[in-house]
Amino acid sequence: MDAEFLFDASQFSNDFCPGYNVISGYLDKNLAAKQRKMLEAHLSMCRECRMKLFDLRAILNEING
Ligand SMILES: [Zn+2]
Repeated sequence: MDAEFLFDASQFSNDFCPGYNVISGYLDKNLAAKQRKMLEAHLSMCRECRMKLFDLRAILNEING
């Protein structure tokens, strides 16, 4: 699966929060390295997205046991 379609990196700025699909792609390791870096940079600045990441990780842990 090509991760490029998940979001356009050019739209991805400090003001733009990625959707759950992007964050779940990150957790599933489906993001390209560049996208992952950008997301990590965003996460370091955005508490809201860190909460999303936390939520999603908890959900995935439930699913995967
Ligand atoms: Zn955010």
